[in-house]
Amino acid sequence: MTNLFEMIEVNNLICEYAPGTPALSVHNLNIRSGEVTFVVGASGSGKSTLLEALGLMTETARSTPDYSFKLKPTEDNSTVELCDYWQWDATKRSAIRSKFFSFIFQQENMFKSVSAMENMLLTTLQSSEHEEQEANERIAEMAQTLLPGVVLTKPIMAYSGGQRQRFAFIRALAKPHRVLLADEPTGNLDPLKAQEAMGMTKTIVKEKNTAAVIVSHDICLALKNADCIILIEKPLDADGKPAAGQIEPSTVFRKMKNKWKSSNSELTEKQLREVIEQSLQSLNTQ
Ligand code: ADP
Ligand code: MG
Repeated sequence: MTNLFEMIEVNNLICEYAPGTPALSVHNLNIRSGEVTFVVGASGSGKSTLLEALGLMTETARSTPDYSFKLKPTEDNSTVELCDYWQWDATKRSAIRSKFFSFIFQQENMFKSVSAMENMLLTTLQSSEHEEQEANERIAEMAQTLLPGVVLTKPIMAYSGGQRQRFAFIRALAKPHRVLLADEPTGNLDPLKAQEAMGMTKTIVKEKNTAAVIVSHDICLALKNADCIILIEKPLDADGKPAAGQIEPSTVFRKMKNKWKSSNSELTEKQLREVIEQSLQSLNTQ
């Protein structure tokens, strides 16, 4: 039995694009190994901001005295203090990103001049000592599951958006990583294909004891696949304007048996769905 552990631990993180105007405030957040975590919330609540901060993509994290941001990539006690990386240069940040993280963006970010197979293979070979043959076989096997019968040697732009999105899943999952960060990765897929891609993600997370953080608008997909759901709420400030998005322990829900538990509630799936829908609606009417 593998040991599950806190892979990312964030306390008192504030993200801002302009000084003095917080876009997101995270009181406390733990991303666990062996778990698929979904991030939900209305547009503009800070989902992408969170994902980009976790993946050291943008320099929005504001340094405050009581802020901590730890990555524990393996179950021994080694800890990488990610706060430190903001003070370091971009090359060091990029090295840590490629060592520990894998990404799926809203845009697939494929190399336009090469084939689907080369696109998937290049990322894996760049970031690991994998033998080409072994990586090739692994990717072909994953493609057989998500895109049965599809030839992989055509130039990438010859495929549909939905096919490219599945290639993006395979590319991210095949690359060695500890944490997968994905921003609306199933936006171009129909429900069946979205579920197949999530099924593969879940299997890999459980088998390899990695973690996945998936931003999604799709509440059904989240409720079906998540071990943990983070709801980002965006309350109104004193002047009635939307304040920064907030992540509090009361809106982080973990699945335990058939219930979803937060720090102060224990909900059925139906109740959690209502809580999420209400939160999205209240924001949309702001
Ligand atoms: P979501 O992904 O949930 O739709 P975002 O994380 O993109 O939300 O945005 C959160 C808040 O930060 C919004 O108010 C948005 O306007 C603001 N924001 C996002 N990106 C930028 C940026 N590059 N510059 C300034 N403000 C931004
Ligand atoms: Mg977004």
